[in-house]
Amino acid sequence: MKLVTIAVKGIYGRPGSLLPASMARLTPDAAASLAQVEAEIERLGGCFRLSDAYRSSAMQSRAHDDYIKGRKHAYSPPAGSSMHEAGRAIDLDLAALIHPPSVPKGSQTLNELKVRAIFEAHGWTFIAPAGNPHSVDVKESWHIEFRGPFQETYDSVFKRANVHSKAYHSMAAAAIADLANDNWEGGLDGDDDEQDEGRSSLAQESELEDGEVVKKTNSEAPGAVPMEVHGQDARAPSEAWYFLQGESPC
Ligand SMILES: [Zn+2]
Repeated sequence: MKLVTIAVKGIYGRPGSLLPASMARLTPDAAASLAQVEAEIERLGGCFRLSDAYRSSAMQSRAHDDYIKGRKHAYSPPAGSSMHEAGRAIDLDLAALIHPPSVPKGSQTLNELKVRAIFEAHGWTFIAPAGNPHSVDVKESWHIEFRGPFQETYDSVFKRANVHSKAYHSMAAAAIADLANDNWEGGLDGDDDEQDEGRSSLAQESELEDGEVVKKTNSEAPGAVPMEVHGQDARAPSEAWYFLQGESPC
């Protein structure tokens, strides 16, 4: 499986800016499905934009190291454990769709369940539950996965081991291996330092923290599926950043 480039709005820079190229990659099946979801949401007037998609193993590894050494609080699994590394996960700016103070000028406020239903109808899986039961800041971006054929990996491992986290890690590992096995040239991957620097300067002020979801949920339900498989450094956006969301166009 090879990655393809996606042209989708991101949360960084000026309103309307595309998600930076280093992140804007997905597997072809995920990319095709995402384009349909985006079209459907935009037909309803929603502001569709992402904070993350593909993440290299080096980026994931660095984030995990930061977590282990206490430089960041949000849980970050080791490289090889995140569907972002397989080009099969996105982080959606959910607040810009459903949370009125964060909905950009000129965009419609949509119902959360409607948004979820659109994604699910196109084969996507939300990791966080609907309705924000863990009282996580609703402005956070949310993690959604296009598992495709690897849902079967999850199901078969779960059937055998009956442990969600084990099934989850097997699924992610299989999806990542599938990417590597296709002799993907990894052009940008060879420039990880450059790529990460670019990303971190772009993202520094507006990284969204959904790692909280992990901690809260895992502590409440031991053995549950990891709520988030993030490697991104989790820093809350500034107040000014939030304020601007409702003042600017999508
Ligand atoms: Zn994510």
